[in-house]
Amino acid sequence: MSELTLNNGVTIPQLGLGVFKVPPAETQRIVEDALEAGYRHIDTAAAYKNEAGVGAAIAATGIAREEIFVTTKLRNGEQGQAQEAFLNSRNTLGLDYIDLYLIHWPVPSQGLFTQAWKEMERIYANNQVRAIGVSNFLSEHLDMLLESAEVVPAVNQIELHPSYQQAELAAKCRSLGIAVEAYSPLGQGGDLNGNAVTAIAQAHNTSTAQVVLAWHLATGNIVIPKSANPARIRENLAAAELTLSDDELAAITALEAGARIGSDPAVAAFTQL
Ligand code: NDP
Repeated sequence: MSELTLNNGVTIPQLGLGVFKVPPAETQRIVEDALEAGYRHIDTAAAYKNEAGVGAAIAATGIAREEIFVTTKLRNGEQGQAQEAFLNSRNTLGLDYIDLYLIHWPVPSQGLFTQAWKEMERIYANNQVRAIGVSNFLSEHLDMLLESAEVVPAVNQIELHPSYQQAELAAKCRSLGIAVEAYSPLGQGGDLNGNAVTAIAQAHNTSTAQVVLAWHLATGNIVIPKSANPARIRENLAAAELTLSDDELAAITALEAGARIGSDPAVAAFTQL
């Protein structure tokens, strides 16, 4: 699996497993299976309530801790207590350190994300986390954060799939040295049935999910498809072996439709508690 180098020199496997909506009771089994299949990057969050299962899977495998990249995220309702929330996540995961810790949403109405970032910078300075970043930050949130930030976020994890690419935001992130991490990379399955993707999949004798994931990888996105199905978990990882032509990549890029699935970060204000 190819790795990308973040702006502080830390490397991250470009394709990982997302575990949003993976039931807590099934998380250990699914993550163990993914590690067995070859995944070395798991994306969870305190809000997913399945950090314990992720940690149990890591503990149960014989794979060295430093070979696995673990991301978790600060809940919106805990932006005022980032240090405490971080320690809770680390304890729940049962890990000595976290690889990447993200502010899950900016929640601009709360007015706390710059304060939370200061706490994250302290956590980073204390070597408890290898990289810190943000998620769901729009251009204006990045501008506000960077006014007082001492550490530039390593990543911005945003909704990104063929029918909703946020090209301007992604370009801005890249120009700032912030890696773009695509969440809901398959459009939660909705981007897998169109004619263009189907034709490319038929031409390569692959699945449509592999085509969409190969497009992400060629675009330079970090990508974290979720699957709870053993066959699809393996199928998604094998997308790294698929190379698309420039014309095929362009045909997928042309599928932009402004089709956001998730909440609008400008107004989203749920606490996640
Ligand atoms: P995805 O785009 O990854 O789609 C997941 C859906 O696609 C599931 O229904 C899954 O079903 C299905 N699927 C997976 N692989 C295949 C395949 N090969 N063929 C057909 N269907 C497939 O959406 P998510 O929203 O789950 O995003 C992925 C990850 O991104 C999350 O798990 C989470 O880690 C992160 N995320 C972060 C957010 C944030 O705010 N920072 C918000 C949302 C997601 P099945 O399980 O049955 O295979």
